[in-house]
Amino acid sequence: MTDPATLLSQVQTRIAHAARIAGRQAEEVTLVAVSKTHPAEAIAPLIAAGQRVFGENRVQEAQAKWPALIAAHPGVELHLVGQLQSNKADEAVALFDCIHSLDRPSLVAALARAMDKAARRVPCFVQVNIGAEEQKGGCALAELPALLAEARAAELPVIGLMCVPPLGIEPAPFFALLDKLAADHGLAGRSMGMSDDFETAIQLGATHVRVGSALFGARG
Ligand SMILES: *Cc1c(COP(=O)(O)O)cnc(C)c1O
Repeated sequence: MTDPATLLSQVQTRIAHAARIAGRQAEEVTLVAVSKTHPAEAIAPLIAAGQRVFGENRVQEAQAKWPALIAAHPGVELHLVGQLQSNKADEAVALFDCIHSLDRPSLVAALARAMDKAARRVPCFVQVNIGAEEQKGGCALAELPALLAEARAAELPVIGLMCVPPLGIEPAPFFALLDKLAADHGLAGRSMGMSDDFETAIQLGATHVRVGSALFGARG
């Protein structure tokens, strides 16, 4: 197995290369290392190699793994990349530094309440169901303007849009669409691109790529 520091530097090199081709700076792209299903022992070497931003997709799993890691490495940032249940909003606001999955009015309300209660504003991406898929998270394209308006009215710090394109087909058109939607709504952030397609996403404007298996190996 390739060691974590080598995998990290390979991904960083690919990010830099994709950015250069697009006439962008590598520093414009935040690498979110998605550590879901991987234990603390697999995460620590990446922190040691310099990685600072991590992603998890479940609140409970993150609560079990991350408080100790964050205490030991205070500079580390934790992002929630998976769907969030409204009844976990308090826990999410306490633990995460960024939420990529704001996707419905009830969650706007729950997060606004949780952030008020905690006196802590956590930056959010609004997740868009970019391929209009039946059982996929994310708000419908037609509902995006209203959801953004609600989030703004609730004073949620929305910093961008996020998507997970449909599996198994060319993702570029979906990334291009998310980029356009973000521009139309005056949002700077674009959370798009995973292990198989982050270079394409960077060429189409990604500011945050969420990379798991290319850093950690396949999930068990
Ligand atoms: C798991 C996950 C990722 C990372 O996927 P890889 O293909 O392993 O890079 C990115 N985004 C979300 C929302 C995920 O759940």
